[in-house]
Amino acid sequence: MLRTGVSTVDLGKVRNKLLPMSNSQDFCFIRSMDFPDGEILPRSQIRISPDDRGFYFADGVYEVMRTYSGKIFRQSEHLKRFEKSLSAVRINVPDIERIGPICEEFLHLNNLQGKDVFFYIQATRGVWQRSLVFPPAGVIPTLYISVTEIVAPVAEQENGIRAITVEDIRWQRCDIKAIGLLPSVLARNQATEAGAEEAIFVRNGLLTEGTHTNLFAVKDGVVFTHPLNNYILPGITRTVVLELCNFIGLEVNEEAIELGRLGEFDELFVTSTTYEVVPVVVVNGQKIRDGKPGEITRRLQGAFRDYIARG
Ligand code: PMP
Repeated sequence: MLRTGVSTVDLGKVRNKLLPMSNSQDFCFIRSMDFPDGEILPRSQIRISPDDRGFYFADGVYEVMRTYSGKIFRQSEHLKRFEKSLSAVRINVPDIERIGPICEEFLHLNNLQGKDVFFYIQATRGVWQRSLVFPPAGVIPTLYISVTEIVAPVAEQENGIRAITVEDIRWQRCDIKAIGLLPSVLARNQATEAGAEEAIFVRNGLLTEGTHTNLFAVKDGVVFTHPLNNYILPGITRTVVLELCNFIGLEVNEEAIELGRLGEFDELFVTSTTYEVVPVVVVNGQKIRDGKPGEITRRLQGAFRDYIARG
């Protein structure tokens, strides 16, 4: 039995009822005005009200965490970041510690045990009339969790990707994982239109991060990345990569890179939960050095793989 704060879900019963129908990643968790007890249902049976504040205002935050071979990676760091995002925007989801067990249960329900998957976790301020004023205390935040099998980005990791730079028109709290992603949507599609796979944001002449990745650069063996502040998301993979730099003895400088000095760098790479470490070989149509993934990037990819393999 899972107590989910405002609700109680007997996952055992749900599993027995639904498992025979289960053939793919179809079951999601929803707790909302329509499903106040919190339920695990096939995606097709989930309804979200048009009065949900996520729909009106993008009034919500999210988190993405993954498994390696069925085991959730850095779960407590992901849930801590989710908690921080929630508290920064004053949405009260009281039972964060139940999210891990719900996700574990999903692996069984969706027949994904032992697989590499990612969990998408989103909370909004719930369903209420369209007013900027917070809804009354009794309104339940909407909590939605889904699971998707990961297709490893092998080609990107092997060959690297192309990026463009775009002005960072996002808000001033990029450290909050907010669901309002219009600048990222526009930038990512601008990249596609330019024949690239990622857009890197530039604020006040400094490279901040990618649309869904943190950015690193290497110069004379030193690894550079933007410092943690309100202009970037504190990526969990960023932390892991910094730990690995330390582990293999690479010097790190948490200093933002000036766009105008990009040509001085030997290597560039981006990191994220699903990408891990992906080289960037072309920016704005210009090759980084010889246009091939760099040596330090390769070493970090290797160290990352080894680290995962060690469990
Ligand atoms: N920056 C942004 C803007 C992102 O959306 C993401 C993906 N969540 C990241 C960085 C990478 O974060 P993580 O390593 O935790 O996936």
